[in-house]
Amino acid sequence: MTLRAFFIDFNAYFASVEQQLRPELRGLPVGVVPVMAETTCCIAASYEAKAFGIKTGTQVAEARRRCPGIQIVQARPPVYVDFHHHLVKVVGDQIPVDRVLSIDEMVCTLDRRQSQRTVAEDLARQVKQAIYAAVGEQMRCSIGIAPNGFLAKLASKLEKPDGLVVIEKEALPERLYGVDINELYGVGPRMIERLNNLGIFTMEDLYAASKATLQHAWNGIEGERMYERLRGEQVYTPPTRKSSLGHSHVLAPESRSPQAAWAIIQKLLQKAATRLRHEQLVSGRLLLQLDYFDKRSWRDKLKLDPSDDTLELLRALKMLWRRRPREAPPLLRVGVVLADLGEKRGHTLSLFAEADNEREQLNMAMDAINEKFGRHSVYFGGAHTARDSAPMRIAFTHIPDPQLEGDT
Ligand SMILES: [Mg+2]
Repeated sequence: MTLRAFFIDFNAYFASVEQQLRPELRGLPVGVVPVMAETTCCIAASYEAKAFGIKTGTQVAEARRRCPGIQIVQARPPVYVDFHHHLVKVVGDQIPVDRVLSIDEMVCTLDRRQSQRTVAEDLARQVKQAIYAAVGEQMRCSIGIAPNGFLAKLASKLEKPDGLVVIEKEALPERLYGVDINELYGVGPRMIERLNNLGIFTMEDLYAASKATLQHAWNGIEGERMYERLRGEQVYTPPTRKSSLGHSHVLAPESRSPQAAWAIIQKLLQKAATRLRHEQLVSGRLLLQLDYFDKRSWRDKLKLDPSDDTLELLRALKMLWRRRPREAPPLLRVGVVLADLGEKRGHTLSLFAEADNEREQLNMAMDAINEKFGRHSVYFGGAHTARDSAPMRIAFTHIPDPQLEGDT
């Protein structure tokens, strides 16, 4: 009776939606792209395309080389968001959905009765049938069932497509031996490096490590939590109360003109706004910081009607940018901070259920694409020239979040 979490991950989600809506694509290798261009990358690949080694991030030209017959299809974010709503509802009719983690992932809690293995497995099959019947047979998902959400998510990755994997507490840790530690949520390339330096390369090593070792690897409490999660414990993580969030960037020589710097500043704001929405917060104050080569700096702030809307925030940013001193030394560093953070009112279960107007729909569709597939797949035009600078990791007031940083 140790099963508590039920995790659903849709397989090749965007490609599956396209195959559902366009029967002529079914059974064929399909690559979904943000724009129709040979230089862009696939943001999703159907299982038929995956068989050719094509995956998220494969360039279109490369995909055609590996699979000359591949169908390249342009992404339709609003359609994927609609499907998402429908899927959440259909799943919710079978078992209450606790949290929507991304456009194709959700987690549910099993009740006492459902914590029995056979009951949980029946429920999983029932959820899959309900999806096929109500949304379509192309909408396959992998379901993971485990003592906590962390292990349930991992379980959902072990069998694809159309998987159903149960990990019982009694089967730990042996059940996970052989699984790549890369697959663990929150373990990105930098953490792998830290773990490797501590002699941890495999799941066996990870389970053999002491709590103190993991504390050392994660630099604190998060290591202790990882130790417990791996053992099937339910770990309570207190919500962090942030007062501000922001990003800054040291300008490369070619980005020091006001025009190039302005593009980067807009991009920093778009990143911060994405985080704001991810954390279901609104901001009541925007700060712009400019540091110059001669060590002088300028900063100014603007009070806002609390908002999480990128276009609204960009408008305020433009006002601040216009106030900057015109006679100034070359710029060295730029930064944007969203302050006076508050909870978004009327916040509901689902990240997407709130899209009650067009603007929110737009923000959410952009977040969904950017969070899941490539950091800058879509963005507002002003940041265009800054697309390749200001890497995600340069930040000064937040702890990198693997889901948002695209770390894995
Ligand atoms: Mg998926």
